[in-house]
Amino acid sequence: MLPPFGLKKDKGYRGLVSTTAIGASSFEFMPERALSRSVEDYLKAIFGLSEGGESASTSDIAEALDVQPASVTGMIKRLATAGLLQHLPYRGVRLTDEGERAALKVLRRHRIVETYLCDRLDYSWDDVHAEAERLEHAASDELVDRMAAALGSPSHDPHGAPIPTRAGTIETANLTTLADGAPGDRVRIRAVRDEDAEELRSMAADGLVPGVALQIESGQKTEGIVSVIVGGDPLAVKDHLAQRIYVVPDKA
Ligand SMILES: [Zn+2]
Repeated sequence: MLPPFGLKKDKGYRGLVSTTAIGASSFEFMPERALSRSVEDYLKAIFGLSEGGESASTSDIAEALDVQPASVTGMIKRLATAGLLQHLPYRGVRLTDEGERAALKVLRRHRIVETYLCDRLDYSWDDVHAEAERLEHAASDELVDRMAAALGSPSHDPHGAPIPTRAGTIETANLTTLADGAPGDRVRIRAVRDEDAEELRSMAADGLVPGVALQIESGQKTEGIVSVIVGGDPLAVKDHLAQRIYVVPDKA
């Protein structure tokens, strides 16, 4: 068994336990492992912004979470006090090992929920993100582990994102976006951004899903468009969509 979230009976963490849903008088009944929804959202956002070893700036975090920079500053102080992140003067913040473990737990719950909804409950891939945003804070690790086991321990979610393991490791890959490609490049789609349902529907309609190989057309580039050949047919992919599609070089 994994330790239940690895959280200690520590003042810092207790301060981060959510009391909104049940009221302060029920505080003692909250399991020690629970971090509040907003703390989990911060950890997940900072993890996403600091992939590749970068530190995340206050303004990037504010933009990612759609909140005011002033509230980010306040939360950063609380998270630093709780030992979940480090504040690097003039450079932003970086998660501690403890913070990264917590972020990976949230990502694991999110991505397994999405996979389960698609594979077992016939949700379409554009319809699972909002459910997962809610359930990532609510589903217990045991439930999520059972869902993963029922699915045969999948390594990637329906959008191609790697699912963190129970042990808290995650696959890393050097991905670029389709928008960054050069004319003539042969690439394969590894993952797509999962937040925008409309974008996902339009990608699916065009066959732009993980695993698909495509070639960027050589020749004159049309403004705002990435022209590709997919399955032998030409396809014009709008730049904003191409920026949401992560690819790797295709060696085949
Ligand atoms: Zn999602």
